[in-house]
Amino acid sequence: MSIRLTTEQIERYSRQMMLRELGGKGQIRLRQARVLVIGAGGLGSPAAFYLAAAGIGTLGLVDRDQVELSNLQRQILHWTRDIGRLKVESAKEKLSELNAEVEITVYPARLEQDNAINILAGYDFIVDGSDNFPTKFLVNDTAVKLGIAFNHAGIVRLQGQTMTVIPGKSACYRCLFKEPPPPEEILSCQQAGILGAVAGTIGSLQATEAIKYLAGFEEGLLTDRLLTYDAKTMKFHDVEVGRDPNCGACGNAKLGDSTISTTA
Ligand SMILES: [Zn+2]
Repeated sequence: MSIRLTTEQIERYSRQMMLRELGGKGQIRLRQARVLVIGAGGLGSPAAFYLAAAGIGTLGLVDRDQVELSNLQRQILHWTRDIGRLKVESAKEKLSELNAEVEITVYPARLEQDNAINILAGYDFIVDGSDNFPTKFLVNDTAVKLGIAFNHAGIVRLQGQTMTVIPGKSACYRCLFKEPPPPEEILSCQQAGILGAVAGTIGSLQATEAIKYLAGFEEGLLTDRLLTYDAKTMKFHDVEVGRDPNCGACGNAKLGDSTISTTA
């Protein structure tokens, strides 16, 4: 299938098409790409905005929540007038106004064991902007099983972390963290707080990883390493991550379907 860009598309995307790494070829690849964003919140907002602006062909959005006043400090897809609306509907409206060419599919659902494969299948890349460990493990295990590349991220207080997984090629999230932490050790945004701009930084990195992967300039992707960001000291660090041959998701000891992950 050959796709040509219109004059208007060439103008809209001109500043990124000028990049040697992307070019017209990369732009067409983005136009043909399908990206699923899990969570239309603090991470999903900046990620989805940049992906829509960059001309991704199809964007899927998964979130079952409604917009609350306390979301607006960081979840920039949603505005004051959206309080009470489904986040996926509020998000779809903003993204369509930004770029009507992007096809947007919404899933007003929580990602669970029994719908994960159906929702994830057919996407080329997944941006995990979920806010809880069971979902992060479920995304990892399902994406590894389906062979879909994805970017993991987490944020709390003034810190964030992110890592990209290419199944079969690089270490996965479970290679690094093995199992979800016990509930009593988990601090949520609600309990620990989060600076909105930190979510913006990490969500933007997630979009960058997706665009690099999809446009075909994979050099320097965040594979086999976890990037950590501390806004308090304003420092980024790289932690090397190796593939675990006994990993429950991508190693020899693969999990059976019934134990693929826990549900929240
Ligand atoms: Zn693994």
